[in-house]
Amino acid sequence: MKKKINTICVQSGWQPKKGEPRVLPIYQSTTFKYETSEQMADLFDLKANGYFYTRLQNPTNDAVAAKITELEGGYAGMLTSSGQAASFYSIFNICEAGDHFVSASAIYGGTFNLFAVTMKKLGIECTFIDADASEEEIQKAFRPNTKALFGETIANPALGVLDIEKFARIAHKNGVPLIVDNTFPTPINCRPIEWGADIVIHSTTKYMDGHATAVGGCIVDSGNFDWEAHADKFPGLTQPDPSYHGLAYSKAFGKGAYITKATAQLMRDLGSIQAPENAFLLNLGLETLHLRVPRHCENAQKVAEYLQNNPKVAWVNYSGLKDSPYYELAQKQFDGGRSCGVVTFGLKGGREESIKFMDNLKLACIVTHVADARTCVLHPASHTHRQLSDQQLIEAGVQPDLIRFSVGIEDADDIIADIEQALQ
Ligand SMILES: *Cc1c(COP(=O)(O)O)cnc(C)c1O
Repeated sequence: MKKKINTICVQSGWQPKKGEPRVLPIYQSTTFKYETSEQMADLFDLKANGYFYTRLQNPTNDAVAAKITELEGGYAGMLTSSGQAASFYSIFNICEAGDHFVSASAIYGGTFNLFAVTMKKLGIECTFIDADASEEEIQKAFRPNTKALFGETIANPALGVLDIEKFARIAHKNGVPLIVDNTFPTPINCRPIEWGADIVIHSTTKYMDGHATAVGGCIVDSGNFDWEAHADKFPGLTQPDPSYHGLAYSKAFGKGAYITKATAQLMRDLGSIQAPENAFLLNLGLETLHLRVPRHCENAQKVAEYLQNNPKVAWVNYSGLKDSPYYELAQKQFDGGRSCGVVTFGLKGGREESIKFMDNLKLACIVTHVADARTCVLHPASHTHRQLSDQQLIEAGVQPDLIRFSVGIEDADDIIADIEQALQ
């Protein structure tokens, strides 16, 4: 039975058999028992499917990954210890030293650092492009050694909306997969695979957990990208892997090749596994994701409209506002036109005023976090994006006065009253 998204949130993933716990158990075990030496050997050769060591796979994690995969309409998925690990693995699974990839410049600050600085040290180069540029303009960034195109459905914190169909066209014309970070809209509002994305990643730390309890990430593969059709570009997936007796992932696992390689090779060697206890907390969050996300968006819409009509406010950015340059795209790409609960704005008086305003908020807390049940606020230029130069700040879509306001699921009247008193 093909379930609707609300039902998937509540019921998918863990499927207990007779006499098993109704609620997803935490398999708090590093290891799993076998009866013969040969049974264990087959697991190590990827000949048999099964659990043997939690660094590679754990049943609690797999149940939660299966739920997120179903939410995104993907083929296979895996959890990672953080969103950063998911971003890194998603690229590193198909790029090695000497390779290149293209990314939207307006992305999460941590991802920008990873791509611009750390990946470069590994010999993998990234060219950043303006996601709103024309296809011809973006095409210029591609090289013969380009292996992927990356973007965020809704950029954190610039809030630009990615035209996923356009990005998918560009990626596929160049024979590379499109990887999309779908953290902000969540699959409740948008499923990038439906618009042509090949791989979707998340920081589950945000709306999916939703209660600010556990850092985590996940990767979902659509199974749609044909690695074999571009076999020379992706030798890691299509050629024999010497660390698995010459097994070739695309031949042995078909649509499951990408996630199998990321698990069997990257997770084995780099070990960024999500703790099963965190996966359990994430699953509790997912059970109410379909209730929370629309409420976040409803409240954010009210806050954005209030700010827009306040004379102390210089500008407001929210794709639910009719004069947003992303309004039409958001209406098309997002269910009900809902984007996310995050609104950005600046005050007349600039950076100084913005900081003073934040210090006067009472209900909304200053925290390095976004997208949880409690309203919170951050000044990216002073906090998350401190490491970036002024030029990089502009490329990332972060004006110096930008306040990132993450609207929670409290009563909208109380959130607006808090903003009002702080403005005064
Ligand atoms: C927070 C965030 C990340 C990083 O995730 P962590 O779980 O903090 O490692 C990546 N992408 C986006 C869009 C984010 O908001």
